[in-house]
Amino acid sequence: MSKRILVIEDEERIAQLLKRGLIYEGYRVDVAYDGHAGLQLAREQPPDLVILDWMLPGLDGLEVCRRLRAAGDVPILMLTAKDEVQDRVQGLDTGADDYLVKPFEFDELLARIRALFRRAQPHSEPEVLRFADLELDTGTHRARRGERYIDLTAKEYELLELFMRNPRRVLTRETIFDRVWGYDFGGESNIIEVYVRYLRQKTEENGEPRLLHTVRGVGYVLREPDA
Ligand code: CA
Repeated sequence: MSKRILVIEDEERIAQLLKRGLIYEGYRVDVAYDGHAGLQLAREQPPDLVILDWMLPGLDGLEVCRRLRAAGDVPILMLTAKDEVQDRVQGLDTGADDYLVKPFEFDELLARIRALFRRAQPHSEPEVLRFADLELDTGTHRARRGERYIDLTAKEYELLELFMRNPRRVLTRETIFDRVWGYDFGGESNIIEVYVRYLRQKTEENGEPRLLHTVRGVGYVLREPDA
């Protein structure tokens, strides 16, 4: 389910620009043009994140921020045309999680949003997942095959974690796309094959038997080596 973002911004041009851009990035977006409408929308359709303009008619952004914060812990990203440190500190004091000074680059906004979502994730205790002689530490993101430590890139880690949490279960390409990349490649991409190859290279570097098997026409499965 894609994340819902509530944009509270009275400048219609900016609001629509944000809406279009965020929808394009796969978010669901609601827009309110003043503070009262924003608070009402937040109650009716609880958002996963709020982008909140500081200068709003009527109820200003700081007050909206205070009230949102009093109601829950949704991440709040403040937009401000002001560039004074004092104001920023005040914004963070009222409970905003981050702020961005207008005008800003859309890519910068996306990066901040992703960072807020990462921080908002309930962090579970690190654990060590085990399958056969393969281990994966969810705290350090490092793997181990027997006595040999294996460094993984972020995507390799996510892919391996998915398999380690679903041992002996055949995962379809669709499931893998959805869980690791978060969107649909339309089945044309060979990116899964590429990453499976990376993982095999790393986990079989010393000639260890294969654990990550291809299920032709379907997907992949983590299971014991073939006898
Ligand atoms: Ca404004």
